[in-house]
Amino acid sequence: MKKINLLNLDRCSMQKFFLSLGERKFIADQIMFWIYKKFCLNFFLMKNISKKLRNKLFNLTKIKLPKKKYIKYSIDGVIKWTLNVNNDLIETVYIPELNRKTLCISTQVGCSLGCSFCATGKMGFKRNLKVSEIIGQILFVIFYFKNKNTAIVNNYITNIVFMGMGEPLLNFKNVVTSIKIMLDNYGFSFSKRKIVLSTSGIVPSIYKLINYIDIRLTLSLHAPNDILRSKIMPINNKYHIHDILKAMYDYIEYSKSNKGKLNIEYIMLNKINDSYKCANQLINLLKNFSVKINLIPYNFINGVFYTKSSLNRILNFSNFLKRNKIFSFIRKIRGFDINASCGQLYK
Ligand code: SAH
Ligand code: SF4
Repeated sequence: MKKINLLNLDRCSMQKFFLSLGERKFIADQIMFWIYKKFCLNFFLMKNISKKLRNKLFNLTKIKLPKKKYIKYSIDGVIKWTLNVNNDLIETVYIPELNRKTLCISTQVGCSLGCSFCATGKMGFKRNLKVSEIIGQILFVIFYFKNKNTAIVNNYITNIVFMGMGEPLLNFKNVVTSIKIMLDNYGFSFSKRKIVLSTSGIVPSIYKLINYIDIRLTLSLHAPNDILRSKIMPINNKYHIHDILKAMYDYIEYSKSNKGKLNIEYIMLNKINDSYKCANQLINLLKNFSVKINLIPYNFINGVFYTKSSLNRILNFSNFLKRNKIFSFIRKIRGFDINASCGQLYK
């Protein structure tokens, strides 16, 4: 019989699982405590679990993490792992800063949306990641640091961003379950303000998310009008800017994590979307929102004809927005030397 990977279960499903074994449901809390608080993956070391149940768990279940295929270290401190998940390869990126340590995780093997500037998009879509493969990326990295003994256990990772390979909202169920485990007090206990989900704007999933989870949501807008956006992001032929913004606004109204702010990512592609005209359209588009824009300098992708906007053009764009009361930040490029920057993840 195939063993169940306990990393696929949030607390509610784990409680149901233990009830189905004829056990009491609080065993779920104990097991989660061992896994996510004590980082103990060996049933036989879980002292407050009866011997009989430990044996049962050993026979029926497993706790299986992704396996390391490659690791790369950037000169700026970023670490990128290529992980083997059930024979597929994905990438996970660790981005240390002074006051936070962010893990950028993947949700799919590849991506079906084919944005013209993105390496993941170029590789096409293979499959959705399971909950255990999403959660497993975090545990894997915690174990990496734990084995190195480099920091205090709970501070290895302070923030999670869903900005790795794939479109998180197209793997809705598993992403939501993973976030539940991240937020759970018996899970990783992350605060909801510390989890950021980036989406290209899957309208029905944004509305659906309202009923499930409150986290920080950010929109990869990248263009100020539908004609240009459809050219660089084919998904815009299905969901148009106006409808995406309406859905985002509804989510933000509901959510506490976003503090009423619409978060936008805007890639800076030289002479494609970085003109004054584009900035002006962006201002008109967003004038009714309280908004924060992250300007992302384009990262070079093999076989793609775009070039990066010069710093001068980015600053002009940013200043023009500012004069019109829209605040933007220029995202620092991290991990470029090991192809770990936004959009460079590819296997
Ligand atoms: N699929 C989701 C999340 C993963 S991509 C999304 O698209 O939002 C994370 C961010 O990197 C997105 O804003 C994406 O548009 C951006 N990105 C993709 N390719 C890039 C590139 N070559 N240079 C800079 N940013 C890129
Ligand atoms: Fe997919 Fe995001 Fe890349 Fe677009 S930018 S192809 S949605 S991973």
